[in-house]
Amino acid sequence: MIRRIFSVLLDCVYPTVCCQCEALLDGDVPMCDACYTSAVRISDGYCKVCSEDFDGVFSENPVCPNCHSLEFSFEYAKAALKNTGANRQLVLTYKYGKRQYLVRVLAKFCAEVLEEDPRFKGIDNAVLVPVPLHWWRKFRRGFNQSELLSKELSTLTGVPWRDMLKRDRYTTTQTRLSRGERLDNLNGAFSVRGEVEGFRSIIIVDDVFTTGSTSEECAKVLKKEFPKLENIVVLTVLRG
Ligand SMILES: [Zn+2]
Ligand SMILES: [Zn+2]
Repeated sequence: MIRRIFSVLLDCVYPTVCCQCEALLDGDVPMCDACYTSAVRISDGYCKVCSEDFDGVFSENPVCPNCHSLEFSFEYAKAALKNTGANRQLVLTYKYGKRQYLVRVLAKFCAEVLEEDPRFKGIDNAVLVPVPLHWWRKFRRGFNQSELLSKELSTLTGVPWRDMLKRDRYTTTQTRLSRGERLDNLNGAFSVRGEVEGFRSIIIVDDVFTTGSTSEECAKVLKKEFPKLENIVVLTVLRG
C-alpha cells in the first residue's frame, strides 16, 4: 500500500514518459507502443552465427565472411536489435547513463527472440547466464547491466537465470581493441562458479555483441567445465 502511494506521488512529480519520444505513458514499460514497434529488429538476412545483418531479404540466414574463418565455443549468437542510432542510444543510456529502468524495455526485445525465434524455441531446459562484471567495475557503475537484463528476462519468460560466471581479472576497456587483442585481453578473465544443476543448455546474456570476444571467452570456460551441455548460445539486445 505504502509502495503504491509512493509510486502515485512519484508519478505526479515525474510522470512516466517514453524514453524516445517523451509521450506520456500508463504502464511500467518506459517506451510507447509506436517507438517499441518501430525499433529496428534483426529479422531477415543476418549471419546465422554472429547475427550481423545483411541488406536485403534472404530466404535462409547465410554465414558472413568473417564467421567463415572463425570458430566459436558457442553455437550461435542472436541480437534482438539492429545497430541503428536510436537502438544504440537506448543501450548506451541504460548502461552508461545509469538508467536502470530501461531494462524493462530492453528485456522485452530479448524476450521476443526467446519466444519467437525457432532456434531458441527449440532449446530445452535452458538457463540464462549473464556476462559478469569485475566487482570493481560493478561497484563503479552501480549495477551489472547483463545481470539486470537476465533477471528481467527471466521474469518475463519464466526461463531461470543463474549467476554462474565470475570475472576474476579487471580488464582494460575493449572498445578500441581488435578482435585478436580483445581475446588476449580477456584470456583467463572468467571462471565458473556453481553447478549446472539439471540444466542442459546455457544462454549467455549480454547487452551488446560486437566482435564476440567476450561471449567467446565465457562460452569457452563453460564448455570446458560442463562438456555435456547440449547447447551454449548467446543472446544480446544489440549487434554492435
Ligand atoms: Zn515513444
Ligand atoms: Zn557472422
